[in-house]
Parts: sequence; C-alpha cells; structure tokens
Amino acid sequence: MENNKIYLDNASTTMVNSEVLAEMMPFFNTVYGNPNSLHSFGREAKAAVDNARERIARGIGCKPDEIYFTSGATEANNWVLKGIAYASREAKKGNHIITSKIEHASILETCRELEKDGFKVSYLDVDKYGFVRLDQLLHEISADTILISIMAANNEVGTVQNIQAITNIANEKGVIFHTDATQAIGAINFNVKEMGIDALSLSSHKINGPKGVGALYLKKGINIKKFMLGGEQEKNMRAGTLNTPAIVGFGKAVEIATRDIIANSKKLRTLRDYFIREVQSKIDYVYLNGHSVQRLPNNVSLAFGMVEGESILFMLDMAGIAVSTGSACESGSVEPSHVLKAMNIPQDLAQGTVRFSLGKTTTKEQLDYVVEQLVDIIKKLRHMSPISKSQIGNVKKGDKKCIIKK
Ligand code: PMP
Repeated sequence: MENNKIYLDNASTTMVNSEVLAEMMPFFNTVYGNPNSLHSFGREAKAAVDNARERIARGIGCKPDEIYFTSGATEANNWVLKGIAYASREAKKGNHIITSKIEHASILETCRELEKDGFKVSYLDVDKYGFVRLDQLLHEISADTILISIMAANNEVGTVQNIQAITNIANEKGVIFHTDATQAIGAINFNVKEMGIDALSLSSHKINGPKGVGALYLKKGINIKKFMLGGEQEKNMRAGTLNTPAIVGFGKAVEIATRDIIANSKKLRTLRDYFIREVQSKIDYVYLNGHSVQRLPNNVSLAFGMVEGESILFMLDMAGIAVSTGSACESGSVEPSHVLKAMNIPQDLAQGTVRFSLGKTTTKEQLDYVVEQLVDIIKKLRHMSPISKSQIGNVKKGDKKCIIKK
C-alpha cells in the first residue's frame, strides 16, 4: 500500500505486522524442514509450530492439543460443520443444526450442502441490529440438534453477538456450540474454557498475520470426522504439510492481538465513533447499520440514502481510499447482502451501504480526509441521482435496479 493511500478495508484483510514478518522469515529458507520429519531439520520446525500452537491456545484459553491448523477460517468452518454432522450420522445420533441468517458464506454454503445430504438446518432470524433471537434459538433446539454455530461478530455490520448467553443455552441443552470468531479475535476476550465454547474458528490474516492460515479449536472429546484426507498430520485429523512460516506468523499475530486487546480496542473505538459523528454531522440521510455500542471497535457500516454504495466505492478509490460495499453489482442489478436483508434494512439503503473498517495504522487525519472526500462525493452522486429525497426508503422490495448506472 502506497503511503498516501488510505486503507479502510481491514475486515477484508490486514497488513502483516512487522514483528510477525520478522518471526516468519527464518522459516522460509533457514529452518525449512517438514515439521513431521524425524530429523533435526524437522524437529526444529516442529518446535516452532508447537510454540505457535501454545501461543494461540493461550490467546483463547484452551489446551495446545485442542488447536488444529487449517488453511483459514473457511476450512475451519467447513470442517467443523461437516465433521460433526457426519460423525453424528455415523454414531446414529441427531441430524439437526442451528445457525443464523447472517453467517459468513463458508457456514451458509456448507449448511446448504448438508441440507442436500439429508441434514436439517434452522437459520435463525436477527433483529434490526443483527442480534440473533434467543427465544427462537430456544424454540428450535430439539432432541435431534447436534450443533449450534453462531458467529461471534459479523464481518459486514460489526454486530457482536451475546455469545455468552448463546453458549449458556447450548451448554444447558447439551448441544455442541461452535462460534466463528474470525472477526472477533483481538476485539473480544475469549476464554473458551470459562465461557463453555466447544469449537471456534480463527483466521490469521484479519489480525495482521499472514493469509492462508487459520485454526479450529475443538474441545477434547468431541467426535469429528477428518475432512482433509491424506497424511496423518495434526494427530491424524487434518492432512497436509503444515505451512510453518505462516503458522509461526499466525502464532505471533494472536499473541500480539490478545496482548494489546484493551489499548487497541480503545483507540479504534474512539476513532470509529469520531468518524461516525463527523460523517453524520456533515452529510444528511446517513444511517449506521448494526448496533451503536455492541459492535466491533473497527467497524463502521454506513447506509447512504439516495446513492449506490458501489459508486461511492469507485469514487473513493479514485481518491486513494479503499472501502467495501454491502452489495454486489451483477449484470446491471444490485443484490443487497444477505446480512442487510436479514436485518430488514430497506433495499435502497442496503444498496447505499459502505463498510469502512479501521486498522492499526488508521489515524484521525486520515479519517478527516475521508470525511472531506465523502462530503464531496455524496453531493456529486446525489446531484446525478434520479432518486429524489422524497423517495428515500420507498424503493420497493424486489426492485433490483441499480440506482446509479455506471
Ligand atoms: N468468517 C468470517 C466472519 C469472515 O469474515 C471470513 C473472511 N472474510 C471468513 C470466515 C473466512 O476466513 P478466511 O479468509 O480465513 O478463509
């Protein structure tokens, strides 16, 4: 990233921390043995992998042998759902899974595939802030329920779930509880033992670690089928040669993120709230998606009335500012994200949604520049927009037309 550019897409991925990179470097061409080899090259690499496993276990309050390295949270999510579902089928137990409508695609797509294979899945509704409904969760649990999977924090709107309350319900009912903590790690303190969490997915690249590595924490004793088949790595539970440099970097990233959690969250929360206030005081018809307090410290998801998010994204990009939208424009039509839909955000506002996700290097000066650019961009776009102020909130459901044609 060039110095004069502003990166506000940290929910998508982050820059590798220089301390993390420094720890990784020797494992490319100095300590390059296969951690599963028995000779000294292998043993040295294994010691580094073990150290990373310990750091991650310490970061979330579990035992090192309950951490399984994966290629990221996508694989961890696929594995935990399919692995527990098929183990349950083999043991002739229940076939029902509960999740929510606002999960990441790696959970939702896997659930849909499991449904095709005969499993039953309940997708919980969320309220206007994106909180799952606990009464509905209680209602859906039956003797057939084998797994509840609810994300700790949402990647689009930043809503942080009442994860302890959900865990308590699962524990009381004796159902395995998994949480996708990809966005939450480094923002929320996890102690999986104290909290009663049975399984948790992690990803390295959201916390200033390298891409392509993550982990599944799985409580000892939980019955799960192997997902990646081949070698006998990871106690014969996940095949594939371990990516030692990435695992070393991931371990360091978790150590830093959990060590600095209080100071980092405080700094980000202050910047986040400053940015929201500035935008809302300088631009009309801007709404915050999600909850104003119970949200990720770095997430600002704003719905701009009478403009299309993608147009804002492109114009900000031209000004050297990177953000993302709450919708995907495909062949001339904008389909709002499943998260905003589940939260019942009106379609025009969902289409006008932009996610700004702050990071370690974000400064107040950068945010001031972004606000300045936004004021200008929104004015221009609204001037071009065929949608008048009187129509705000009135775009009919199901109307998929782009508001601004590109
Ligand atoms: N879950 C959530 C909530 C995410 O935000 C992401 C990444 N956008 C993933 C899972 C997938 O993680 P990875 O990139 O490590 O596969």
